[in-house]
Amino acid sequence: MSVNNEYKKTRQIHIGPVLIGGGAPVPVQSMTNTDTRQVPATIRQIKRLEQAGCEIVRLAVLDQTAAQAIQLIKKKIKIPIIADIHFDYRLAIAALRAGADGLRINPGNIGGPKAVEKVLKEAKTRDTAIRIGVNSGSLQKEILKQYGRPTPEAMVASALDYIQLFENLGFSQIKISLKSSNVLETVSAYQLLSRKVDYPLHLGITEAGTLLAGTVKSALGIGLLLHQGIGDTIRVSLSCDPVEEIKVAFEILRALNIRKHGPEIISCPTCGRTEINLFKLVQKVEKALAGIQASPKVAIMGCVVNGPGEAREADIGIAGGRGQGLLFKKGKLVKKVPESELAEVLITEVRAMVKNGF
Ligand code: SF4
Repeated sequence: MSVNNEYKKTRQIHIGPVLIGGGAPVPVQSMTNTDTRQVPATIRQIKRLEQAGCEIVRLAVLDQTAAQAIQLIKKKIKIPIIADIHFDYRLAIAALRAGADGLRINPGNIGGPKAVEKVLKEAKTRDTAIRIGVNSGSLQKEILKQYGRPTPEAMVASALDYIQLFENLGFSQIKISLKSSNVLETVSAYQLLSRKVDYPLHLGITEAGTLLAGTVKSALGIGLLLHQGIGDTIRVSLSCDPVEEIKVAFEILRALNIRKHGPEIISCPTCGRTEINLFKLVQKVEKALAGIQASPKVAIMGCVVNGPGEAREADIGIAGGRGQGLLFKKGKLVKKVPESELAEVLITEVRAMVKNGF
């Protein structure tokens, strides 16, 4: 089944040079978990994120020192920065002046309408976009009272209120997120909002959990929405190294045939027929190929039952046998390789293939 490419046409904004919405490729974002004031550590983490393919990075800005750090960090990294601000509009203004390419604020906790107005004025002079981040855990009191609990309708009402406020102040460089750790409620909220506005939507399942649980929740929530043509940029949230978020995000986009990034490794689960150490082989190959931008399909199969078929369908592949493997390239059997050399041969062949534009 192909993805529903009836994409909801949204307005286009930009975060630095990265376009969001209006048919642009869906950018992948993450957020650092270093103390932003620790400039070298933050730069190191962003560089690792860049290497993994991250296209926009968000930093928590807790005080003026963190806001000033943006200027130093920007000098050493390539991707645009979004400053994540709560509680104090002055930090938003300081972050913008330090060169932040975008802001994420919750307009309800930034210091009132006058404070919002000051932030928008500064952002407007710098042509900088702002994400209105609605979180089910921090809805306006009146809305909670009206809806009883943070329902999808309540989250949408909250977002519409803020959008109205921004529009009244003549600001339209907006993207919106509606986050809840409840997957189905998040999906409903985005569906509802998508019918009402054409601003780009930032998708994510917040507080999704650890690598396993968070990946499943994010793949379902983000995947269901993207499949319906909803969503213009994504951030997978996991309780682990943020580099894993980038890997998961690109796998979601790949599975939906939206974007490809890095080699696609197809491997079998193994069974009683497997006669090579397949898990070790897959791990070794995956690690060695990390960082490659091109997307060859690499099949690593345990035996000759399904192995040759899958390996032939891939750009390159291996089907294991007793103490050896058969190497296939573009559907053709190339050679037999001893098990001890399988990883090295496959890695070398993939690298050469990528170099030659496979
Ligand atoms: Fe088993 Fe072969 Fe299928 Fe792997 S490819 S699961 S080894 S039958």
